[in-house]
Amino acid sequence: MRLRRLNRDQSLYPKLSFSIGLAVLCATVLATMILSRAWNDFAEARQNLYDIQYYRQILDAANFLSAERGPANNVMSESPSPSDASLKRLADFRARSDAALAGLAAAPEVPFLLHDHPVPSALLAAVTAALAEARDKVDQVQASKGDEAKLRAMQQAIEAMFDVSDRFRSVVTWRSNELISHDSGLAAPALIGQMLADLREYGGRAASEVIAPLASHQRIPLPNIIDARQSQGRIYEIWQMLHSQTALNAVPDLAKNQAAIDALFFGVGMDLIDKVIKEGKDSTNYSITATDLTTRFVPTMKPIEDYRMAFLDEMVSRFSMERDGALRLFLAVALATAVILAVLIGVLLAVRRDVFRPLLQAHEEVIGLAEDRPPAARADLGGAGEIVRLFNAIDVLQDRMRERASLTSELRVQAETDGLTGVLNRRTLDHIAQNGGGRLPADETLCLVMVDIDHFKNINDSHGHLAGDRVLVDTATLLKRETPAGGVVARFGGEEFALLFACPDIDHAAHLAEGIRMTLQGHRFTIPGGAQLAITASFGVACGQRSPRDWRHLVERADRALYQAKSDGRNRVSVAPDVVRRQASAEGGRRMPIRGSR
Ligand code: GH3
Ligand code: MG
Ligand code: MG
Repeated sequence: MRLRRLNRDQSLYPKLSFSIGLAVLCATVLATMILSRAWNDFAEARQNLYDIQYYRQILDAANFLSAERGPANNVMSESPSPSDASLKRLADFRARSDAALAGLAAAPEVPFLLHDHPVPSALLAAVTAALAEARDKVDQVQASKGDEAKLRAMQQAIEAMFDVSDRFRSVVTWRSNELISHDSGLAAPALIGQMLADLREYGGRAASEVIAPLASHQRIPLPNIIDARQSQGRIYEIWQMLHSQTALNAVPDLAKNQAAIDALFFGVGMDLIDKVIKEGKDSTNYSITATDLTTRFVPTMKPIEDYRMAFLDEMVSRFSMERDGALRLFLAVALATAVILAVLIGVLLAVRRDVFRPLLQAHEEVIGLAEDRPPAARADLGGAGEIVRLFNAIDVLQDRMRERASLTSELRVQAETDGLTGVLNRRTLDHIAQNGGGRLPADETLCLVMVDIDHFKNINDSHGHLAGDRVLVDTATLLKRETPAGGVVARFGGEEFALLFACPDIDHAAHLAEGIRMTLQGHRFTIPGGAQLAITASFGVACGQRSPRDWRHLVERADRALYQAKSDGRNRVSVAPDVVRRQASAEGGRRMPIRGSR
């Protein structure tokens, strides 16, 4: 029985390959999602660091523009003309402001994969124009004659410088809004940075409100006092708000900067302004000069700048740490993903190589065993214990099947042949004659030649049974050799043989039998002991069709013919009488066409 073939969709191997592919695909998709999340965190932290650094550059510029008012006030205040040192200082401050503005106007170098939000050039152009105008006004103050005129000119120059700061404030606000809209995590640093810049700005403004009357030895006009007080109000307000910022309180190092601002800016600087306002409100009896005010007040704002710098340093380092942490996380996730994918693929391939491939091979071999196919060469199948045992078991089965096959064929030979002579036995002859057994053609006439050795008993009696056996074996060999191709020889019993072959007619068969008879007669048999014997045999020939009924009939007729040959004197060929009769009537009465002679 042959086993049913597997359809492709029933087969395990494509399913396994599909499952492996699916598992690797899922793992890859999952890994890509995790990786892209980690990469986004890293890219965002990197962008935030860049943004906060750029924002710091803007706040620095704001600080430089505010700080430029200090040396400007000094140059305007000094009479009759400003000292070279003051002029040089102003020139230095202006150069610093210009460089900062030029830096902002230039196209920034944006690192790879980052994006920038450049300050709109219109905003910067407005600042630059206002700055040029304000500086002109500062430079012209010295040309004004008389205290009144100087007060007016100085007031206008100071207002113009305030205008510059106001315009730049819109740059800061624009950028700070950009940061907040990009990432809400940047809101606190952006607003605190702006508040600290404002603190510095309004501190400077409070002093600038009173510097002109002081320099021109005038009483402080009421609007100046109001503006100075308003600036101070803003300062206290901002300071209060800054105190409540958790982002600031979370940085312990800033506490000493706060203490310095309290002590110096609020303790000394604001007191100085209060004192000048008090003195100049109703009189011109100032206890200090404008230059003194600038020289003593400007340093009190230094802690504010330090504070802003320290805060921004802290923010930059925090964002750097965030970026580095995100990078480490990304690398760790990438590494873990690569390892997991490699392990997964490795396990799946190992399972395929060590389990499925051997199982499929075993499946093929077992099917081969069942279908009696010779085993194919076996590839190296790895060393898994169970698999090795499985193939050992298949080997054992193959050996057993081989043993069984050889035993079966041995038994078949034994069952089919005669033990002494090696030719077919009678049972097999019966079977072949009736069914063909794959050895004789179905549709041709079968001829049976019965051969009986004459006086065989005498050989036994004279030379012993072994000699008789030898003669039987050699006779069988000779008969086999003489039988036409496709025919069979069987030992019919004792010293009697049967030759069965396809033949066109009885004459052919009789002729062939006659030839064999003569060959046998001429043959010399060497018996144990070395002596040589000659024998003769009688032949009975009959022809018929292949079928169980005809076979019995054929045997009877051949047997009768043999009997006839014996009774006619032996060593001759006799054709079955009924066939002879039929032929005789057809050919005009021939009775024994071939007859042996002694
Ligand atoms: P006939 O010419 O009438 O055939 O005379 P015969 O002696 O050949 O015939 P008979 O039937 O009288 O004797 C046959 C003998 O063959 C008797 C038996 O002992 C002997 N014989 C039968 N089988 C064997 C065998 O396997 N080996 C030996 N050595 N002799 C056998
Ligand atoms: Mg006999
Ligand atoms: Mg005999």
